[in-house]
Amino acid sequence: MKSFKWLPLAAFLFSGYSSTNFPENPRLVVFFVVDQLPGELMQRIESEFTGGFKWLLDHGVDFRNAHQEHANTVTGTGYFVLGSGRYPGPAGVLGNSWYVRELGRSMNCVEDTIASPVGGLGKARSYRQTNATAIGDWIKENDIRSKVFSVGGKDRAAVFLGGKNADLAIYYDLAGSFMTSDYYTKALPEWLVKYNEQLNFAAYRDSVWSHIAEQEFYAKYGTADHQEGEVDRFATDEYSPTLPISLKSKTIEEANVYIGNTPWFDKTVLELATVMMEKEELGQDESTDLLGVGISMADWIGHDHGPHSHEVLDYYLRLDKYLMTFIQRVDELVGLNNTVFALSADHGVGPLPEYLRSIGIDSERLDRPAFKEKIKHIEKWSRNRIKFSGNGFYFPVDYNADQKVKALAKIQLELENINAIEKVMTREEILDLDGNDPFCRRMRNMIHPTKSPDVFIVLREYYSERFPLGATHGTPYDYDTHVPIVFSHKSFKSQKITRAVATVDIAPTIARLVGAEIPMEVDGNVLEEIFK
Ligand SMILES: [Zn+2]
Repeated sequence: MKSFKWLPLAAFLFSGYSSTNFPENPRLVVFFVVDQLPGELMQRIESEFTGGFKWLLDHGVDFRNAHQEHANTVTGTGYFVLGSGRYPGPAGVLGNSWYVRELGRSMNCVEDTIASPVGGLGKARSYRQTNATAIGDWIKENDIRSKVFSVGGKDRAAVFLGGKNADLAIYYDLAGSFMTSDYYTKALPEWLVKYNEQLNFAAYRDSVWSHIAEQEFYAKYGTADHQEGEVDRFATDEYSPTLPISLKSKTIEEANVYIGNTPWFDKTVLELATVMMEKEELGQDESTDLLGVGISMADWIGHDHGPHSHEVLDYYLRLDKYLMTFIQRVDELVGLNNTVFALSADHGVGPLPEYLRSIGIDSERLDRPAFKEKIKHIEKWSRNRIKFSGNGFYFPVDYNADQKVKALAKIQLELENINAIEKVMTREEILDLDGNDPFCRRMRNMIHPTKSPDVFIVLREYYSERFPLGATHGTPYDYDTHVPIVFSHKSFKSQKITRAVATVDIAPTIARLVGAEIPMEVDGNVLEEIFK
């Protein structure tokens, strides 16, 4: 028998759920997830928003101290948590990909070796290998007529937002088409075939991405446009990581990839989400539907330029406008009275080390060539039986206690002079951490007792593993874990909540909103402020 954490009727009776304006059965829940949106960045520029972000905040309960409570803050883990309300380690989602000892190879977090690709050149992806369920599944469990759709730039965004029983999860193939796998459907719906036929990212080669705001805006919230440490992906000759940016010199094939490094890609995803909403008739009846939208390419722009760059600041002013267009379309198709919005991010990001040093913070990049050499030494020393993948070392399953001790000593010795590494920790040491401080909590929550690496590398705070340029995330530190959580409805008054909450709380909160039951294994709690 299935066990549930929460009986919705009881919840309804005890919670004093009495808001007169709030829809008891919203017809549509839209879940926006931005890939790489630090809470700090959102709050730094929030007073400049005039579009969709402003609407969501003006009509939203804004949890300003929300964190992804796991240490391996990457896209796979972040989206999994947002969809499922569970910590990634115990649930066996260890990263974007991880080494599987039994298979002797790495596996992607949304890999599906049985499924076939449908409608594009990318890989077939699904929720099949994930031993969990997500908010979309609970909504369907509650009402079999409910529809669950998701779209993302990245496959793992769409898959984890959709859950196990999504009607359709679509993602970009980096070759000009949005696609899916036959886990979901044998053929793309007609509307998507048509959309793909009209999709022409190469046409953006005649467009220029230049500053949308006055220079004062960038000066107030960021660095100079030319900040040392940025990636210059559009250079034709010398290093000049500055706006304006253009795809002019790219081939059609390159334009289909590099479009992801411009704001126009996420504009397209939001537009496609409105087409999905219209054609699949989401929010058109009494059964609550879920639409997950993965705003994926913020991540690429953020990686290349860092969270204080002109490019990132400019991107968010544009996204603010695109979100308003989307919200207006929801109003036309479903009605804002009938729709609840949730907004969050899969992770934040660390600022560029070069910028951090300029403001007096000790920061360096991992010396990647030296680090790679060390990894090679360790793997060779073990006769290639120890594997390094992601953020840790995997020992062979037949290693005895003595071999493990020797391997750990070898790893410690090899890595002791790598400046960016704070320490190495064994899986058992992490599981034994008994503190409730953020570091201990987040480290524990990324561990699976058997699947995880045997030894982890812990980076120093503010140090970056990105080399030689760019910004990145993936650590347990606040700049990587702090993300927005905003729940919005037309009837909500703006509320700022400062107590600490976690991204595992989002899925159970949506469940409560729509009257779905929350499975026992869910780690999060309902955010009660929404219901007051
Ligand atoms: Zn990233």
